[in-house]
Amino acid sequence: MTATARPIPANSIEAETFRDMCRRFAAAEAAPRWQEADRDSSFPRAFYLACAKAGLIGISAPEELGGTELGCVEEAICMEEVARVNPNLAVSILVQNVANALLYHHGDDEHRMIAQANIEGRALLALAVTEPDAGNDVQALRVMARRTADGDWLLDGIKAFITLGGDADVLVLLAQTDPSKGRRGMQFFAVDRTSPGLRTEQIAAYVNRPAPTYRVVLDNVRVPEARRLNAGFSEIMAGFNRERILVAARWLGHMRHAQEWALSYAREREQFGRPIGANQSIAFLLAQNQVDIEAVHHLTAHAARRWDSGLPISEIIMDVSTAKLLATQAVVRVTQNALHIGGGWGLTEELPVMRMALDALVAPVTVGSTEIQLRAIARQLDLPCD
Ligand SMILES: Cc1cc2nc3c(=O)[nH]c(=O)nc-3n(C[C@H](O)[C@H](O)[C@H](O)COP(=O)(O)OP(=O)(O)OC[C@H]3O[C@@H](n4cnc5c(N)ncnc54)[C@H](O)[C@@H]3O)c2cc1C
Repeated sequence: MTATARPIPANSIEAETFRDMCRRFAAAEAAPRWQEADRDSSFPRAFYLACAKAGLIGISAPEELGGTELGCVEEAICMEEVARVNPNLAVSILVQNVANALLYHHGDDEHRMIAQANIEGRALLALAVTEPDAGNDVQALRVMARRTADGDWLLDGIKAFITLGGDADVLVLLAQTDPSKGRRGMQFFAVDRTSPGLRTEQIAAYVNRPAPTYRVVLDNVRVPEARRLNAGFSEIMAGFNRERILVAARWLGHMRHAQEWALSYAREREQFGRPIGANQSIAFLLAQNQVDIEAVHHLTAHAARRWDSGLPISEIIMDVSTAKLLATQAVVRVTQNALHIGGGWGLTEELPVMRMALDALVAPVTVGSTEIQLRAIARQLDLPCD
């Protein structure tokens, strides 16, 4: 039997109960902050505290650390429901859950204490992999960690595009410890943001404004050996696969948000004496949007369930990459259609749809761009693609 022939279990009753909880949380804590999104490029720490209180940080983490020991299915549900009302604050939850998984899966007691503090709302995390000259090509990273005579490490170099980098208490940061070993010579460190020699500069981006992204400059930053994780390139590649499922869920929520807005606008806005949605050309745009939404919903749920079934990552790459690719392409189409339906008013700050369309533009770029997903899919088809 091939891997794809396995039966797909339906979401459990527990997962749907969890969805109801996430939806209520999102309505209370994330929706009211949506309007702040375009004007304010600062992260509302109160949102992180609210997430921790609601049990949304550490969804898959062990109970002994304060986590809920649920799975990727529930993490995806959380992403979708929060993104449905506020896609940018959803990404702040995603960063926490990806970074804390590295800490509790690959760390010792000291790292697990940081993960626990993160889950309890006492330590905001950032995940620092990308560098100015190492984007999709993670193997090209240059931030160096050199061992000192007393066993500590000194970190030097620059990280770029680090979401919450200037807000976080701890950065889970990938550095080169032994360049002669290439990707096998990379290790993660849990670095305090207030460490001497570390400074951050916000990068003014058009997207993700309330979860801002930073340049992180490391100048001889001393990190104790106890803060080195037993994880490097391979572990982050595995982590990226889980992150891609969650990213797909985030964009699914964003698409639903845009579609809900476009449907109500098409029903209410009248031209030529009738709602614009009564024109077949506008109705077809909305129908096409729904096709994208349904397809992304099924692919993402399928990939999350396959992840939770414990299959080796090599067996679910097709599921992960097809979900991530379709979600990130579809969200651009759906938000562009919504923008078109908004007409001239859609291009003003009086309607929310331009913000939706702008935010969607980051989708095909991050966590392995469109080309990187196509390459992964082609390789699964046994095509020699480098
Ligand atoms: C808002 C935002 C938040 C982010 N948050 C984080 C974060 O929290 N932590 C973190 O570590 N990183 C983060 N990133 C980094 C993000 O994951 C990188 O931007 C991404 O990896 C792309 O890197 P790049 O911009 O250097 O593009 P490049 O890698 O330079 O790519 C540029 C273009 O070339 C294409 N390309 C590259 N290689 C190939 C190839 N082999 N074949 C064909 N085409 C190729 C790409 O698809 C893309 O179209 C964030 C980025 C953004 C924009």
